[in-house]
Amino acid sequence: MAGTTRANAPSELDIEAARWFFQNTVDIFVLIRGGTISRINPAWTELSGWSVAETVGRPIEAFIHPGDDQIVRGLIADLAAHGQGRAEHRLLRKDGDVMWMRSRVKQGAGDATIVVLEDVTDDHRRAADSANAARTNDLLREAAGVYIWRFDPDTGLYDIDPDLSKAGAPGTSGSRTIDADQMNSEIHPDDQRRVGEAFYRTLATGEPEVVEYRHFRADDGGWARLRAAWRGLQKRQSGAWAVLGLTQDISEVAEARDAALDAAEAKAQFLANMSHEIRTPMNGVLGVLHLLKSEKLSADGRQLLEEAVGCGQMLAELLNDVIDFSKIEAGRLEFAPEPVDPAALMDSVANLLRPQAAAQGLWLNTHVQPDLGWASVDPVRLRQILFNIIGNAVKFTLTGGVDAWLSRVEQDGVSRLRIEICDTGVGIAPDHQTDLFQRFHQADGSTTRRFGGSGLGLAISRRLAELMGGEIGFKSSFGEGSTFWIEVIAPRVEAASADASEAEGLLEGLRVLVVEDNPTNRLIATRMLEQLGASVETADDGQQGVAAASRSAFDLIFMDIQMPVMDGIEATRRIRALPTPVCDTPILAMTANAMSHQADSYLIAGMNGIVPKPLSPSTLINQIAATVAQSAQEAAA
Ligand code: ADP
Repeated sequence: MAGTTRANAPSELDIEAARWFFQNTVDIFVLIRGGTISRINPAWTELSGWSVAETVGRPIEAFIHPGDDQIVRGLIADLAAHGQGRAEHRLLRKDGDVMWMRSRVKQGAGDATIVVLEDVTDDHRRAADSANAARTNDLLREAAGVYIWRFDPDTGLYDIDPDLSKAGAPGTSGSRTIDADQMNSEIHPDDQRRVGEAFYRTLATGEPEVVEYRHFRADDGGWARLRAAWRGLQKRQSGAWAVLGLTQDISEVAEARDAALDAAEAKAQFLANMSHEIRTPMNGVLGVLHLLKSEKLSADGRQLLEEAVGCGQMLAELLNDVIDFSKIEAGRLEFAPEPVDPAALMDSVANLLRPQAAAQGLWLNTHVQPDLGWASVDPVRLRQILFNIIGNAVKFTLTGGVDAWLSRVEQDGVSRLRIEICDTGVGIAPDHQTDLFQRFHQADGSTTRRFGGSGLGLAISRRLAELMGGEIGFKSSFGEGSTFWIEVIAPRVEAASADASEAEGLLEGLRVLVVEDNPTNRLIATRMLEQLGASVETADDGQQGVAAASRSAFDLIFMDIQMPVMDGIEATRRIRALPTPVCDTPILAMTANAMSHQADSYLIAGMNGIVPKPLSPSTLINQIAATVAQSAQEAAA
């Protein structure tokens, strides 16, 4: 064919095409003759900025970065040896910038050399960027212990940069690829399941997750504490997501946090213990003050006594708050619901606070829904809540007064008591309303100075209400007053039969034994019982108590629990083992440890009931009445 015979000689068309290509290609063409540039295409000027006049006649080395001398010399050598060569080097632009070029040189006819230059600046920039990123990763890891990893669901491999197993070891770098089993085996066995579940959620949905876990540390065989955050990067054809994650070594932070929590726990425990220790002598002081009230005193003396009682009660309340709060925090608070007349309970709280209200010139009224009836609820805890809330209402009201409303709410088959306490007091500023129920929160610093208080009352009340299956809330307008409401589960029950006032005469002519090691408590119990008409004997410990009980028959025995030589539980067991009628004597525990599990253990030991410390005449009478009624019932049966 005609075309084939003329193949070696360029046609007009070939020459035309080559010229067009030379003029229009984005690559640079340079023709060198006798060591200097003799021709360039327009791409040269476009890319480098050098015009034809500035270029032609100069050696090409004049346009190459001096740092790449070595590369140029290599190219020339290759050219001499093989007639061609290729290399990458920088080209100097007219504006002072440099460009990265990939050049191919070829020996032409005679002394001609053809150079083709391709702009690869972008490739170099990308490579530099990724090198920078790798350096940044290293820096991140070293400075902050941060690791970056990818998971590919198609291969099931993790690519980790740098090596996670060296977490915490300084100066380690380099990435590592491991499979899912290997990854899992390096996670602490107790954390594997949690981490795995979170990871599978992301694999399935692409949703982000954050987990903290322990990871094996090859360096010392210990566990690094890690915090990993990851998210889906791209959904693959299989439906699973590729995952990108960032893991941070938080061992130091976590250890510091643990230490801080331990310290806080230790402090709280110390506070609770101290409060408990202080409460015992404090109860003694209060008991003696109560006894002093029935002594002959001057008008001045009586006033001082009132002051002392007031301060003592405040201190006792603070201590109780601290102890209660720590018990609630530790989940050790227990509830003992019993039939209660809630109206009487609310009235008794109001009666206690009325003198304070009167002293401030305030009214304090209670309003009870007719036919409210009795309820099964823990009276101690309900009283505590009411005392806090009504007490606050009185405390934070300067003029006007306080109204407390008691009603029953039936909803979804659950019966609740609802108490609303409205005051015309200082109110609570909107800013302070959100975290009012936080412990130690007081609406403002000056309030504390003005009104006193621990800032624990509301926090305790809320927890108590919650533990009683209820809620507490409030609304308040600053400067106008507040309404706090409380709802607790309190099923309707039959009224309890024993009436405390009927029991008052019961101690006339009765012989009572008080077994108690603390002289102050002994004195208080003796005096209170004597004031109720009993004749009282005492014993200083359990052993003496058993001896006294076996010597002569008593109608009733009061038994402290913690005593030296022999405790109250052992003494009770021994008395129960004595012959009749001594073994049938009702025994009441006197103790500050009146939580229900403890109460149970006293009953199991053979006691008939509990009188909580600090002793008060009314609880004494109530307990004695209940015990006598029970013994009478048992005798009848
Ligand atoms: P405190 O021992 O300080 O009374 P509480 O937890 O009982 O602690 O109350 C926390 C804070 O809530 C109080 O210091 C007070 O600022 C605010 N507060 C509570 N009840 C009322 C009320 N009835 N009127 C105005 N402010 C109140």
